[in-house]
Amino acid sequence: MASLDSSIRKHAIRNAHEYGKANPGNIVGKVINEFPDSKKDMKSLMKTITEVCKEINALPKEKLEKEAAKLPKEEKKAEKSGFDIPGAMQGTVVTRFPPEPSGYPHIGHAKAAFIDYEVAKQYGGKMLLRFDDTNPEKESMEYVDAIKEGLSWLGIPLPKETYTSDYMPTFYEYAKTMMENGKAYVCTCKAEDVSKGREQARPCPCRRLSGEENLSRFNSMLKGEYGEGEAIVRYKGDLSALNTVMRDPTLMRILESPHYRQGTKFRVWPSYDFGAPILDSIEGVTHAFRTKEYELRNELYYAILKEFNMREPVLMEFSRLSIKNAPISKRLITPLVKDGKVSGWDDPRLPTLMALRRRGILPAAIRAFVLSFGFSKVESEPSWEKLLSENRKMLDPVAPHFFFVPNPVKMKIKGGKKKKLREMEAADEAWISGSDAESLEIGETIRLKDLYNVKIEKKGKEISASYAGDEIQKGKKIQWVSQGLRCEVLRPGDLLTPSGEYNPASMRIDEGLCENSIHSIKDGEIVQFERYGFCRLDSKKPLRFVFSC
Ligand code: ATP
Ligand code: MG
Repeated sequence: MASLDSSIRKHAIRNAHEYGKANPGNIVGKVINEFPDSKKDMKSLMKTITEVCKEINALPKEKLEKEAAKLPKEEKKAEKSGFDIPGAMQGTVVTRFPPEPSGYPHIGHAKAAFIDYEVAKQYGGKMLLRFDDTNPEKESMEYVDAIKEGLSWLGIPLPKETYTSDYMPTFYEYAKTMMENGKAYVCTCKAEDVSKGREQARPCPCRRLSGEENLSRFNSMLKGEYGEGEAIVRYKGDLSALNTVMRDPTLMRILESPHYRQGTKFRVWPSYDFGAPILDSIEGVTHAFRTKEYELRNELYYAILKEFNMREPVLMEFSRLSIKNAPISKRLITPLVKDGKVSGWDDPRLPTLMALRRRGILPAAIRAFVLSFGFSKVESEPSWEKLLSENRKMLDPVAPHFFFVPNPVKMKIKGGKKKKLREMEAADEAWISGSDAESLEIGETIRLKDLYNVKIEKKGKEISASYAGDEIQKGKKIQWVSQGLRCEVLRPGDLLTPSGEYNPASMRIDEGLCENSIHSIKDGEIVQFERYGFCRLDSKKPLRFVFSC
């Protein structure tokens, strides 16, 4: 019978470790599963389990941790078998994550980065990190740092990064070669004429220029003889192509703002369509993943590589992550920050990584959430709840429990005995939450959790109750504090309305009292406020939490 005993002990330790307290009811099924015969004598089985639980519950926390660490790991369901990537060979796969440093990274970037990273890892290859910085108007070092910090927080190791803007002389050489070969031309038409021509499949006069004329115009562009918008380099594609991307797209344009790394060295910058294929090929990328809206641009990507007989990476697409009523794009997030609609890039209502971190969302939950979509191109629009429930599952076994009573109401307890719980000393009064107070009925007996029972006698601004024994009984069990510490909990909601407007009611604040022993937790720690939810300590002075899930 030694093994039955050790099974009971194992489950009791695990249960106590995960939930703060071992409960015989949670354990008995697991024990019977392992030892079906044990149910023949339920009475003695329950007696043993109850005794073992009592013993385990009496262990000091550190001892319990130690015991739990000694247990064999619980068997987990087999992980999904991973990605199936065409042309991927073990040991040779190179992927890349190419963010533009034009804002703080958000959960959409996490999706792309995790896919790049996980595929490389699965095939024993590597992921490159390339800052795609060819628009000096929008980019800055602050964003480069924020992106690196975000990736590190997610647990993605940082490779030595490269910068698209370090390859400018290369792009100039490639552009010149294309002009010499009659595959690109400098167009000085007005922007609206360019787009009309593309729409109507009509060439403009610039298309007929000779290689030499184009090179001379290009040199004028480089020297600053054209201003912004006065000249662009266009690919000589197919103006009648059904895929309108191929109708002589822009390869280079003039942007006069100084660049955050290159200063005023350059004024002619490659477009994404021109830069990405060339760098992917030069940097050795074997598999380039991008979001679905680039699918039509694949033809152009390969066409450019063909011009130079360059090695062609495999392109694959996945759907752009979008979450109901959330602005998952720098284009939408930036104005909210700049216009002061949110308190900063880490406002807990935002989908930025900084904000999710502040909200107590674990990187592992983000990973599981974004990878659950894999390479699917289905445009689903999940709500936050899917991520939050993932997060809850991960926090539940590890977050320490505390009492928090929002909108506190005082309860006077006649005959209340002096009793200590953690750092609270209860005597003849306690505070309970406003909603619990509301739900009480005169005459009912309830339990103040881990304290004793009280009978409700009168309700009003305060509640009058009387001590009603210590025995655990069925029925309502509510959290309470004595004295307590004033605190507030920020409760982020949907930042946008269904029509995409800013939702001014997107942040609620709960005020209340939490138990005194909360001072023992560290900044940034996530706790479970019982019957309220998981919250992350945001500030000690003033005492403030952010509601997580
Ligand atoms: P934004 O609209 O936020 O500016 P972006 O695509 O312009 O997005 P980049 O910095 O250029 O942002 O993107 C870096 C990588 O992250 C790209 O491969 C891009 O496809 C990917 N990415 C960006 N947003 C999402 C998203 N919502 N879902 C999945 N991948 C995304
Ligand atoms: Mg972009």
